[in-house]
Amino acid sequence: MHDKDYDVIISGCGPAGALLGYLLAQSSVKILILEKEQFPRYKTCAGGLQHRAAKLIPFDISPVIERVISGIYFSFKNQNNILRKYGSPIIYTVKRPGFDNFLAQKAAQKGCEIKFGKKVTGYEVFSNYVIVKTACKDYRAKILAGADGARGAVHRQIMQESSCRKILGYEVEISAGTKSVNTDGLKDEAGLNQEMIYKDKSGNKFDFTDNLRLDFGGVKRGYCWVFPKSDILSCGIGAPFGDVKSLKPYFNLFLEKFNSYETAGNIKSAKIYAHTIPVMDKDTKFCAERVATIGDAACLADGFTGEGLYNCFRSAIILKECIMEAFDLSDFSFSNYYGKINDSIYKEIKYSMLFTRAFYASIKFFYKLVTENSRIFSSCCRILRGERSYADALKKLEFFKF
Ligand SMILES: Cc1cc2nc3c(=O)[nH]c(=O)nc-3n(C[C@H](O)[C@H](O)[C@H](O)COP(=O)(O)OP(=O)(O)OC[C@H]3O[C@@H](n4cnc5c(N)ncnc54)[C@H](O)[C@@H]3O)c2cc1C
Repeated sequence: MHDKDYDVIISGCGPAGALLGYLLAQSSVKILILEKEQFPRYKTCAGGLQHRAAKLIPFDISPVIERVISGIYFSFKNQNNILRKYGSPIIYTVKRPGFDNFLAQKAAQKGCEIKFGKKVTGYEVFSNYVIVKTACKDYRAKILAGADGARGAVHRQIMQESSCRKILGYEVEISAGTKSVNTDGLKDEAGLNQEMIYKDKSGNKFDFTDNLRLDFGGVKRGYCWVFPKSDILSCGIGAPFGDVKSLKPYFNLFLEKFNSYETAGNIKSAKIYAHTIPVMDKDTKFCAERVATIGDAACLADGFTGEGLYNCFRSAIILKECIMEAFDLSDFSFSNYYGKINDSIYKEIKYSMLFTRAFYASIKFFYKLVTENSRIFSSCCRILRGERSYADALKKLEFFKF
């Protein structure tokens, strides 16, 4: 190895890669992040940062928080909106261009080198190092961390013949009828929880100041959402790949009724983005000799909500510890990482899949339970806050004999 070599190269500077970069730089590891885009860049995401995810970030993120959410409007097939409030914050909303840029800056400030506009095309593992390939140059490191999401090169190469479950998500940003500019991806300072009252086309009133919206029943095993930011509403829909046919038609109906403002001309011409959300299955490959993946690249999204940020940060924290161990023991097999992910995150993903099956098998019953029983609603909020797990929730459900 020579001077120009790195201890660790990370492919991708999304939330998972940036946090791993930050944590490793903090421990004086020589590190390089290769990111294919220039930042700030758009990312298809509702930008809902669960309270349990925010708690894992080791620095203040208040400059990029758009809204603090403590309540949810529920509807079933777009009918009968019910607002349920929880006493404490359950989710914070962020705009991904600004949020991701902020995390990248924090990693850089800690001493992490980041090269933007460098797309990783593949890698080759040798006995003492890994060669990481880009279009114009190859880089060398002792370890490669794949944090390049659901479409990344490291994700695809490590997955090889293995597979994962997939959720498809659509996302569109519509005007909320309020002002506030967003030139550099950062929110307007005054925008945090400024009052946002929104009337849909049918005259239904939503207070999006500190509440979001979820709509169930429109598609077989998925849901629609509206996540408010300081000045816009992120509307989306997601469901497993098996149910995708019904997604777009229902989403159009939902938006038709909901959107009462001109959005980039109108909703028909506003760009609707689609992106895959990968969920780990029993044979999903996520690490090998000298290579380990985190976040979406490791297929760690929640099987019920499709949210991925919590497990991005958890996996980055776990991998950081395993990388330090690898250097200490000169063991680069990542069998420690394999075991830790299986015992923690994958275990919960399995529970989230069981929960999903139970929920959608009796959707009307569960919908009623969550919206009408405040103890059950609080339990769901406590999962988002990281105070309960799916396993706890399932134990309670045994009572109902599913
Ligand atoms: C419609 C939709 C809504 C969602 N809403 C939420 C939500 O509200 N809350 C939540 O928690 N999760 C949500 N998710 C999931 C969440 O967006 C992901 O789990 C999260 O972005 C994963 O972060 P990551 O860092 O692993 O990957 P990414 O955010 O995908 O970042 C990967 C990075 O790698 C870069 N990259 C890709 N390929 C290469 C390459 N070859 N070389 C170099 N760089 C590369 C990309 O440019 C990107 O910057 C949503 C997903 C979708 C599709």
